[in-house]
Amino acid sequence: MNYKFADIVINRPIERPFTYSIPEPLKEDIEIGSIVEVSFGNKVVTGYVVGFSDKCDIEKIKPINSIVDKTLCVDPKMLELTKWISTYYYSSWGEAISAAIPSVLKKGASGKRQRKEKRDEEEKEFEFIDGSDKHLMPNEEQKLALDCIMNSIDARIHRVFLLHGVTGSGKTEVYLQSIAHALEIGLSSIILVPEISLTPQTVARFKARFGDKIAVLHSRLLGSKRISEWRRINSGAAQIVIGARSAVFAPLKNLGLIVVDEEHETSYKQEDVPRYNARDVAIKRAGLSKAIVILGSATPSLESFYAAKNGRYALIELPERIDSRLLPAVDIVDMREEMTRAKKIPIFSQKLKEWIEKDIAEKKQVILFLNRRGFSTFINCRKCGYVIKCKRCSVSLTYHFDKQKLVCHHCNFNMEPPEICPECNASYLKYWGLGTEKVESETHRLFPQASIARMDTDATHKRGAHDKVLSKFKDGLIDILIGTQMIAKGLDFPKVTLVGVISADTALNLPDFRSAERTFNLLTQVAGRAGRSDLGGRVIIQSYTPQHYSIQASKNHDYNTFYDKEISLRKELYLPPFCHMVSLTLRGRKEERVFKASDNLKSSLEKEIKSKNIEILGPAPSPISKMKGMYRWNIFLRSETAENITSILKKALNKNKSSGIIITVDVDPS
Ligand code: ADP
Ligand code: ZN
Repeated sequence: MNYKFADIVINRPIERPFTYSIPEPLKEDIEIGSIVEVSFGNKVVTGYVVGFSDKCDIEKIKPINSIVDKTLCVDPKMLELTKWISTYYYSSWGEAISAAIPSVLKKGASGKRQRKEKRDEEEKEFEFIDGSDKHLMPNEEQKLALDCIMNSIDARIHRVFLLHGVTGSGKTEVYLQSIAHALEIGLSSIILVPEISLTPQTVARFKARFGDKIAVLHSRLLGSKRISEWRRINSGAAQIVIGARSAVFAPLKNLGLIVVDEEHETSYKQEDVPRYNARDVAIKRAGLSKAIVILGSATPSLESFYAAKNGRYALIELPERIDSRLLPAVDIVDMREEMTRAKKIPIFSQKLKEWIEKDIAEKKQVILFLNRRGFSTFINCRKCGYVIKCKRCSVSLTYHFDKQKLVCHHCNFNMEPPEICPECNASYLKYWGLGTEKVESETHRLFPQASIARMDTDATHKRGAHDKVLSKFKDGLIDILIGTQMIAKGLDFPKVTLVGVISADTALNLPDFRSAERTFNLLTQVAGRAGRSDLGGRVIIQSYTPQHYSIQASKNHDYNTFYDKEISLRKELYLPPFCHMVSLTLRGRKEERVFKASDNLKSSLEKEIKSKNIEILGPAPSPISKMKGMYRWNIFLRSETAENITSILKKALNKNKSSGIIITVDVDPS
């Protein structure tokens, strides 16, 4: 290396690289992609070498301190991918690279992180549990799917497949055999799974098939273990990687295939900068490597299914379950009628009550689902109408019976429940709304003979509590399990014959254009917990809007009908997948200033836009207009491509830097 200076980007929201001099002893080892330590301000931070030069105009130039690890370096393709992420998702290049490499390689690990690692250490390693080590003979549909996929792998042409099939239709077997085929011709693979489904069973199936060729990356992995897995991947010892979101950056060489299981899951979206979607990054990465992508789901995202219908992706359907087991029967109960009959707001419909009684009498098991924690979800004064709200957030407080506290579900603020109205001192405080705690207490009242457990983040926040409840349930020591979305996914208990959805309306009422899609996905998933054995199964969905198409479609497990209805609405309203959306959130402690800054930003955007086909919506207060003491306003931008928007946005944001206002940019918000 003969260059004197290196261009280095760091994990800060600063776009341009910084120049550092290269000390003589480092010249031999430094290269593009080297991970180095540099002084920045009065700190030492990790930087990434993205270029070299011979000249530099800056006078007091600082030297690079050291190279973090001579054997690990960000390869050119990864640099290209992270560069794309930084442009598309609106972060700095340094921030994007930083998201792509394990944090243990980075300087400045805080005490918090070290404490976390200590906890990780206590976590059990995944064990070798079950799973066949031989390929199964594919059925007709699987064979068709595998033919298409294997041909593409052989041809080394980038292509995206959407594998649409209900749970149990044999998707995982297709993944396994595709990966094996890639391996045979020397190509490596990544399998992305949502963290929640990274269960020992899933991992065990892959381990059984591929043994020590596989590396597992999950968030609970201890720092040193994570780095050793990373080294095994980097050196080529492991050619298959299974993991959550960030595994999309695994440093595999000769990448042939990326599988994104449950591609519709929102957990693929990173909530911090860079706010990337791992599914879309997977497609980009595969494109750069001429690799193929398999997106798998029982309920594909509207974006992916639309792309498949238009021929951008290849659609493969696995329409039936392998064992031809029927999907559970689904009944929808109109709670408006129940209310009229009961002359109050009932928690259980007559029908659900009867089925619970019958099934627990027959020693079968029941799951009750409600996606809301706590006992009562709001408290108001009957005299003056005052609602008890969080002091820092614009939401009502939830009463928690276990803790005897009112709690904010956004910032965790809590207080003793007042005896009298804080506004008018009347003693007529009324508790409304329904959470899992109340469902639990009502279930105890109605079924005193049953053994009942609750599973939500309140009930299982102690380590091990979660596994304990599940193993008791598995052993048949619990008759009725009540829970939030924590129990919606992945659980496989053969003795569960009945699933009751206490209210299907909770997600539907959220002010979010994906609320119908979310509702359909959630109901489909919850329903999938019933009838997983010859005992059969039944699902009872309670709703005050039973005619809604997302609820009706879940009755017949009918993705296509749901899709047709939803896609025509999206088209009519010009929403994704018909446009790309970028959401801007402005936050600050002074409401007036947040509003002003939003208004100014909108004006700048309008000036920049001119010819390009971009639409601006807002500014308007966020659905939760105040959170943790910060007022929040939104602006939405829509256009045919996200790139249209980001180029203009950059200019407008640079002109609108005001102190005390934080602006976040979310491209393709989920
Ligand atoms: P999915 O991923 O769609 O849920 P899986 O691949 O897990 O489906 O298949 C469901 C069950 O059927 C698994 O127990 C699997 O071992 C079994 N299975 C899958 N394909 C076959 C096949 N071709 N022959 C026999 N059993 C199969
Ligand atoms: Zn709060």
